[in-house]
Amino acid sequence: MFKLLLHICCGPCSLYPIQTLRERNIYFTGYFYNPNIHPLQEFKARIRALEEVAKQEGIEIIWDRTYGLKSFLEETLLCWEKPKRCERCYYIRLEKTAKLAKSLNYTAFTTTLLQSPFQLHDLIKSIGEEIAEKYQIEFFYEDWRKGYKIGKEKAHSLGIYRQKYCGCIFSEEERFSRNSLVFQTKKD
Ligand code: SF4
Repeated sequence: MFKLLLHICCGPCSLYPIQTLRERNIYFTGYFYNPNIHPLQEFKARIRALEEVAKQEGIEIIWDRTYGLKSFLEETLLCWEKPKRCERCYYIRLEKTAKLAKSLNYTAFTTTLLQSPFQLHDLIKSIGEEIAEKYQIEFFYEDWRKGYKIGKEKAHSLGIYRQKYCGCIFSEEERFSRNSLVFQTKKD
C-alpha cells in the first residue's frame, strides 16, 4: 500500500493538497515540523489553525510542537539572506520529513509548500529530489499551485487563520518594514 507523509507548513496551505490526495484515494498522514515560524505567539496561532483543519477535515497529524527559534537561527547564521536562507529552511524541514517517513516505513514524502505561489517552487522540488536520493525514499511531487485560490477560499469559508508573512523573523521584517518606515516618516 502506498503511504505518504505530508509535511504541512500551515493550515491554509494544507487544504488543497488534502482535497486532491483524497480525490485520488492516496493514504497520507500530516506532519507538522516548522522551526522557521516566529515569534512564539505566531507559532502557537499556526498550530491552532492546523488543529482546526485537522478537526474539520478529519486528518491524522504527527506533531512536533517544539518552538525552533534558536535552532533555526543557528542553521541560518551564515546564510540569512534570500534565497540561501530559504534553501536551508526547505532543506531542514524536508530532510526531517524524509527521515521520519523512512523510519515509519512510508513509501514517499512531500510538502504543502508546493501549494504556495510565494515559495521558490523549483528549489523545493530540487531539494526534495536530492533528499529522496540521499535517503532512498520517493519524493511525491505535485504542482499544487493551481489550487492556491481554492485553498484560500476554503480557509476563508472555514474561518481558518491566515498568516500575513512566510514564517521566520526575517520574513516578518520584509513584510512589515516598509509600513513601519512610512509610520516613522509621518510621525517625524
Ligand atoms: S522566508 Fe519563509 S521559506 Fe524563507 S527562510 Fe523564512 S520562513 Fe523559511
